[in-house]
Amino acid sequence: LPVVAIVGRPNVGKSALVNRILGRREAVVEDTPGVTRDRVNYKAEWNDRRFTVVDTGGWEPDAKGIDASVAAQAEIAIDLSDVVIFVVDAMVGATATDEQVVKLLRKTGRPVFLVANKVDDARQEPEAAALWNLGLGEPHPVSAIHGRGVADLLDKILKVLPQVSAVAKDEFGGPRRVAILGRPNVGKSSLLNKTAGEERVVVNDLAGTTRDPVDEQIELGGKIWRFVDTAGIRRRVHLSQGADFYASLRTSTALEKAEVAVVLIDVTEVISEQDVRIIDLVLESGRALVLAFNKWDQLDDERRKYLEREIEQDLSHVSWAPRVNISARTGRHLERLVPALEVALESWDMRIPTGKFNAFLAELTAAHPHPLRGGKQPRILFGTQAASRPPTFVLFTTGFLDPGYRRYVIRRLREIWGFEGTPINVNMRVRE
Ligand code: GDP
Repeated sequence: LPVVAIVGRPNVGKSALVNRILGRREAVVEDTPGVTRDRVNYKAEWNDRRFTVVDTGGWEPDAKGIDASVAAQAEIAIDLSDVVIFVVDAMVGATATDEQVVKLLRKTGRPVFLVANKVDDARQEPEAAALWNLGLGEPHPVSAIHGRGVADLLDKILKVLPQVSAVAKDEFGGPRRVAILGRPNVGKSSLLNKTAGEERVVVNDLAGTTRDPVDEQIELGGKIWRFVDTAGIRRRVHLSQGADFYASLRTSTALEKAEVAVVLIDVTEVISEQDVRIIDLVLESGRALVLAFNKWDQLDDERRKYLEREIEQDLSHVSWAPRVNISARTGRHLERLVPALEVALESWDMRIPTGKFNAFLAELTAAHPHPLRGGKQPRILFGTQAASRPPTFVLFTTGFLDPGYRRYVIRRLREIWGFEGTPINVNMRVRE
């Protein structure tokens, strides 16, 4: 989906605008300033067009951190969106921070909509007009809280929003798109440098504009791969606060562009909540997954024992993901990334013919019928694979299947067809 990112200083009303666009009050919970929120991407729809809204307002710095953090938002938005909405508080007017952001935004090839928020009635429109000064073109007066002007804004945005995300245009055909993910310091840029350094960097200015290249195409194992958002990996944003939030933001938005994610895990450190959260973002996005255990050159026997146990404990829900043990520093086993990526993508693309799938269901239910519930037994009447990328199955049933039974179906699917490296969805349609 095309991506619309919302950028602006704290308190200008970014979350209110996101809520307004989503049309659901509960979509973005009101946060206490400074509190981290994991969700940053929301699916939105307007006039039958669907797009993703990236909300950069999940972390509001205190006054000290504002400049760095607003600049970080803007950079991420520039790299990853098709359209940027820049929100300014019309009642406050443009501040020095706003002017800095404008400088960043003007470098982008992306369309930018300048939104003058908190214009609750027509008498306040002159305040909005004052924002022409920013040099971003016409200010769009809105009241995110009351909804005033938001419909017009969305109509205008849809006119310039591509049908398919510019970044996902080569969804069918073209090099496969890989996101390298992981918490800070796991070795993402080392991995990138090692692969790009030893192999040929094929094209460097994909974006074709004056700004930095956002993605890089790298030849690995005789094939060209598109590593997405390498600009974000190479360009480090140093933040004393909110670093986790911006790491999440970057992870989610990079996933929008990718087909498969390589999640790096540092074997010299305990597997952390943040590692697990990044993996969960991959699962939520429905992308294929490869786990790369990095810094293997520094793994001693003692740590190794604990590592195995941690993997079993914390990563059992992704036991289906291919694993490679690498060292980005020495180059150890980097070549094993390629078959792992290929296997994961093959599973992600896989389609099971309906006949075969129903034969599988017949066998499965015969061997292990659904347990009786209230004297009745939900039956699976028929099933089909509704989608791939990731494989998504629909079961037509006579009642809701227990979660345990659904897990059993997924387990059997993996036993029979592998699906190594891809999440699987199993949905139900109950016919009463
Ligand atoms: P990023 O924040 O994920 O991009 O991490 P970097 O690539 O900047 O790496 C963070 C630190 O870990 C740097 O000091 C690297 O030299 C080091 N590092 C990265 N990969 C390895 C590795 O495989 N082995 C060892 N021993 N150190 C590594």
